[in-house]
Amino acid sequence: MVFKKDVCIIGGGVIGLATAYYLLKAGKSVAVLERAEIGSGASSSCDDMILLQSKKPGIALTLAMESLEMYRDLPRELGMDIGFLSLGGMIIIEDDKQLKIMENFVKQQISYGLDVEIVDRKTLFKKQPHVARYMIASTYSKSDSQVNPLLLMRAFLHNGLRMGMDVFRHTPVIDIDRIGDRWMLKGEKGINIECDSIVIAAGAWSAEIGKMLDIDIPIKPV
Ligand SMILES: Cc1cc2nc3c(=O)[nH]c(=O)nc-3n(C[C@H](O)[C@H](O)[C@H](O)COP(=O)(O)OP(=O)(O)OC[C@H]3O[C@@H](n4cnc5c(N)ncnc54)[C@H](O)[C@@H]3O)c2cc1C
Repeated sequence: MVFKKDVCIIGGGVIGLATAYYLLKAGKSVAVLERAEIGSGASSSCDDMILLQSKKPGIALTLAMESLEMYRDLPRELGMDIGFLSLGGMIIIEDDKQLKIMENFVKQQISYGLDVEIVDRKTLFKKQPHVARYMIASTYSKSDSQVNPLLLMRAFLHNGLRMGMDVFRHTPVIDIDRIGDRWMLKGEKGINIECDSIVIAAGAWSAEIGKMLDIDIPIKPV
């Protein structure tokens, strides 16, 4: 069976589903191929943090800050609860060595526009009374937020299906061929999809897809 689409997405985790949603919104036809169940990879085994403070100043922090702004409006846009909460976050500091590192890190993050600060011991215990007493300080950013990855994937999936996305579950991609200026994706069970573009959203397994295209993707599952 051969299907025709503008874009094929390999992997039905949060990245594959989000990419599908925004491509559909841009008017593209999209198929998602998932080798097991939707969200069966890292996206259902993770925590729930939109943690800006852990991001290195530079592109990672800039993207995280833009991403947070997108999350704020996403429940309204998707019309579903995604468990978004903005409660702030802290990184606890144990000794002077860590404090020095974090002071420098926080200074750089502030220069990128993040509202983060170092708070002293007294403020730390006021905010978090159950932290071990030997801790000496903490960072604090009111921007650190949370989202429920399961609800988020459900909302992207629901909206994607409503917008005409095709989802092939239990369909591992096993080969990729070039046919003229298009791609032919081969999934198990004889499912073939012809498309203009492929998005590799196979998470920790992306290198296996890279091999099908003679591309070295330096990601290793651990
Ligand atoms: C313990 C833990 C805690 C984490 N906590 C956080 C956190 O607090 N905040 C945060 O932002 N991030 C966190 N992360 C990271 C986050 O989970 C990942 O960045 C995110 O889930 C990656 O999504 P993904 O869609 O790229 O990958 P995945 O969710 O792994 O999706 C990849 C999908 O591709 C499929 N696939 C693989 N090979 C093929 C194939 N050949 N054909 C078809 N499908 C294929 C897989 O089955 C899988 O479903 C955490 C991760 C872990 C492990």
